[in-house]
Amino acid sequence: MKDYDFLLSDINTIKGIGSKTTKLFKKKNINTVFDLIWSLPRNFTDRSVISKINELQIGKIQTIIVNVEKYLFPRVRNLPNRVRCYDETGIIECVFFNSYEGYIRKILPLNSIVTISGKISYYKDKYQITNPTHISSNENSVRKILPNYSLTSGLNEKKYLSVISYVLKNLPDLKEWHNDTTLDKFKNVSWKQAILKLHDSKSIKKKGNFLNRLIFDEILSSFLTNSKIRKSIKKVKKIKKKFKSDITNSLINKLNFSLTKDQLKSIDEINYDLKSNEKMFRLLQGDVGSGKTIVSLITAINVISSGFQVALMVPTEILAKQHFNLANQLFEKNIKIKILTSKTDYKNRKNIVNNLADNKIDLLIGTHSLFQDKIKFNKLGLIIIDEQHKFGVKQRKKLSDKGGKNCDVLVMSATPIPRTMIMTIFGDMDTSIIKTKPNNRKDVITYSKPETKINEVIKFVKKHVENGNQVFWVCPLIEESKKIDHQSSIKRYEFLKKIFKNKVGLLHGALDKETKEQILFNFLKKKINILVSTTVIEVGIDFPNASVIVIENANKFGLSQLHQLRGRVGRGDKQSYCILMFKSTLSENAKKRINILKKYNDGFKISEEDMKLRGYGDLLGFKQSGLQTFRLADPVLNEDLFMLAEEEVKKIEKDNQDINNYNLLLKLYDRADILNDLI
Ligand code: ADP
Ligand code: MG
Repeated sequence: MKDYDFLLSDINTIKGIGSKTTKLFKKKNINTVFDLIWSLPRNFTDRSVISKINELQIGKIQTIIVNVEKYLFPRVRNLPNRVRCYDETGIIECVFFNSYEGYIRKILPLNSIVTISGKISYYKDKYQITNPTHISSNENSVRKILPNYSLTSGLNEKKYLSVISYVLKNLPDLKEWHNDTTLDKFKNVSWKQAILKLHDSKSIKKKGNFLNRLIFDEILSSFLTNSKIRKSIKKVKKIKKKFKSDITNSLINKLNFSLTKDQLKSIDEINYDLKSNEKMFRLLQGDVGSGKTIVSLITAINVISSGFQVALMVPTEILAKQHFNLANQLFEKNIKIKILTSKTDYKNRKNIVNNLADNKIDLLIGTHSLFQDKIKFNKLGLIIIDEQHKFGVKQRKKLSDKGGKNCDVLVMSATPIPRTMIMTIFGDMDTSIIKTKPNNRKDVITYSKPETKINEVIKFVKKHVENGNQVFWVCPLIEESKKIDHQSSIKRYEFLKKIFKNKVGLLHGALDKETKEQILFNFLKKKINILVSTTVIEVGIDFPNASVIVIENANKFGLSQLHQLRGRVGRGDKQSYCILMFKSTLSENAKKRINILKKYNDGFKISEEDMKLRGYGDLLGFKQSGLQTFRLADPVLNEDLFMLAEEEVKKIEKDNQDINNYNLLLKLYDRADILNDLI
């Protein structure tokens, strides 16, 4: 048995954990002993200080040393058993619901001195402790600073504590994975020492080297995995793509604008990758409306003209349709473009499958369904993934593999995130960034209005509609229920229809494909001026003529989601407006968030401010996104450690240091799984 085997073993191997407790732990996603180590106390309860009865504070957990004076056991059932106790300053009653007299007599023998700790209450002029769990004649066994864990029902604190102390007692001494220089930066704290300190109520508050070491371990394991994946991708030699620059030029000539400096730079970087014999694995990052689509289509046409097929994957059907229309408009007629989504009917799907295999389709645009096993390309040369920040390292690598050795990968993201997070989430990729916005853009002017002033909003909208402008009216998800969600948008639609007659359209997720498309088409063709919708318009859709967006119940959305929604307007050269509507009372935090949106139009700035407000944990729903999350590391607070880890990985790569030194680190931190799966 290896020294680390204990850490990787199933929790049911821990003494005292039966199948029932195992199930409870697994529900909390704690599967191995190693997982358990990271289920840290939420906080600590200090039961070490003894108080006198006359100085007790009501509502607090406190500890007293008292004499047991008298049992007050009721003759009537269902009333609690009470025990009167005293010290030299006063009287207190211990109140027990659902405890047998025998048990009470045992833990609180008459006339004995006991130490009791519990939450103090005050009832009918008397101090009380209800159902105290910490009672002993041995003072020291109660007077402790005890950790509190977030418990699942069925797991009590005592059990938890006993399991964790068993694990801590049996922690193995692991072979050090860091070299001396690195270890010295953390004052030579070993992994085991660090873990023990992490669980120690006295040192945890102090933080320090032990915590930094553990955070660094975590970041390094993630970066090393990324580095390995990069290497394995670069190792594959592909056929260089050959294409002429006049294809790009003639496409650019069809545009009624000129590309920005950063768009051109990104195209250059991408072209360099396409023409090299190393596989491209590149992230194209740029705020909403920065013009990523055109860069991706230029990339697509270059790959097609060098004799390969291209797959473009988008998150929604509507977006697929819009990219499809744009590609048809910009590409020469001989380029064959098809669209495939989960709603594509059997006959069409079969056709597409056949034509793909016969190389009769050049560009296939679609949703997730593009990557079902049945869909086989004849000569896939490029995969483009649009607006998919919910794609993990594993899925990306899978895609790249599915494409085969000649397939390049371009991922586009509008998620404005700090560099530490890019390093983490996209650390396996090269990056191109579009910072400059098209220069015809004006900042969107943002207002906020309470719901009660909806008449003013209507007036504002009316004015714009009369001038021929178009308006998005967004109704949010209420109570997470799709059904109610649709109803609220239907209600609003009917309300607006009374005012604006046939100038209003309604779009929500429950409509069928044809209806949806018809409505979007009508909006694009300006047959309707107001589009009431749920958040289906959130991602990517491009309506340059829309200049007003009204967002109801705006406090239901996160800042970045509001920024994305607002990005649906202000895409043309018109002055655009965003009206955030709220229920009448707003929390301080909500007010701050509105002000951030009013003040800034730059997604990066907004995410920075958002982080200051919320901490990174919640940023962009990062935690919920299913992407890798850290147990300890915080991309904002621990920026220095992220930088240090980046340096370290570069050194390891450069010196060709034996990465095997870090095998244990990768194995423990669950990165090895990914590697075994992928490489
Ligand atoms: P995103 O980066 O959010 O995907 P899009 O690619 O959808 O943005 O572009 C938003 C809008 O900006 C589109 O209408 C597009 O035609 C337009 N656009 C793109 N690049 C430029 C540019 N350089 N100058 C002016 N308009 C541009
Ligand atoms: Mg886009």
